Amino acid sequence: GSTIGILGGGQLGRMLSVAASRLGYKTCIFEPAGDCPASHVANFHLKAGYDDAEALARFAEATDVITYEFENIPTDALDILERHRPIRPGREALRVSQDRLVEKDWLADLGLTPAPYADVPDRAALDDALARIGTPAILKTRRFGYDGKGQARIDSPGDADEALGSMNGAPAVLEGFVAFQREISVIAARGLDGAVACYDPGENLHEGGILRRTTVPAAIPHALATDAVLLAARILGALDYVGVMGIELFVTDSGLVVNEIAPRVHNSGHWTQNGATIDQFEQHIRAVAGLPLGDGSRHGDIEMENLIGDYSDALPGILADPAAALHLYGKAEARPGRKMGHVNRRR
Ligand code: ATP
Ligand code: MG
Ligand code: MG
Repeated sequence: GSTIGILGGGQLGRMLSVAASRLGYKTCIFEPAGDCPASHVANFHLKAGYDDAEALARFAEATDVITYEFENIPTDALDILERHRPIRPGREALRVSQDRLVEKDWLADLGLTPAPYADVPDRAALDDALARIGTPAILKTRRFGYDGKGQARIDSPGDADEALGSMNGAPAVLEGFVAFQREISVIAARGLDGAVACYDPGENLHEGGILRRTTVPAAIPHALATDAVLLAARILGALDYVGVMGIELFVTDSGLVVNEIAPRVHNSGHWTQNGATIDQFEQHIRAVAGLPLGDGSRHGDIEMENLIGDYSDALPGILADPAAALHLYGKAEARPGRKMGHVNRRR
């Protein structure tokens, strides 16, 4: 049998491992943390840091193909891994998605519409950017942000100093605040043979920068859902992508604005575990293993709710609800803002 290597041992790596296991693969995760969600289910856990060249080479050689659950993998580590085994999705998807500025330039070059944005290397550039884009706006670190971390809202030019200070010197981009009607995402997959399959767009509700709920289908006209899926297919094709990608979109009066892309399985695609025959995790494993993509058509209307922080009060109700499927990540400590699990509910 073959072994799938997974970089990252969080909940996404855990659910990828489960899906791989169901298809008869073994999994090996590469993760510096000892006790992590994926370590409970993967066959092998290589516990080492991304600066450990010898461990990276050993990991690669223990696998047949390498994939990942997060996009911020250091370039040097990727260079080492790629000498030994294929990395799927490929390097171009990582290059584009690791840096918000590169990503927005790339999307704009493809003819898509990102939020209005400007590079903010220093204070003077922030003043220029605010003069051009206006307020409200959001300053974001170019790299390493997730769950709304590394972001500061600027409601008036007087907020500029504090916002820039909160970046701790990291290079940033300024984004105009998009007055969206709703947020949606497309979970799209592309196989090694170039076939593309997309799940129906879901509608996302964020609270404090963290995804709270995804409702499927999104309450949008059919033509807009088609636009979203075609846009997704263009992105995957342009990257010669292999695997599942999450594409976050704003629905605005003047059409679809691309918020960001994630070259991996995506939180807003967790509903597929109980709403489609082939969920996003199996779809991703199929793609990176070179198998044909599966059928992602939706069985019914469904809602995914994240369990964030201490969810113990909600647990009895979830367990008693015949429409609810519970997914927990095995994290010991329920810190505030931490994703502990999710529940998929038939609507
Ligand atoms: P993740 O990668 O976990 O999705 P992130 O840290 O990359 O999160 P973003 O997707 O950039 O964060 O932003 C989080 C949420 O904040 C968005 O889903 C949206 O609700 C809001 N937001 C971000 N940028 C804008 C914008 N330019 N206009 C309006 N809302 C925004
Ligand atoms: Mg992001
Ligand atoms: Mg996001």
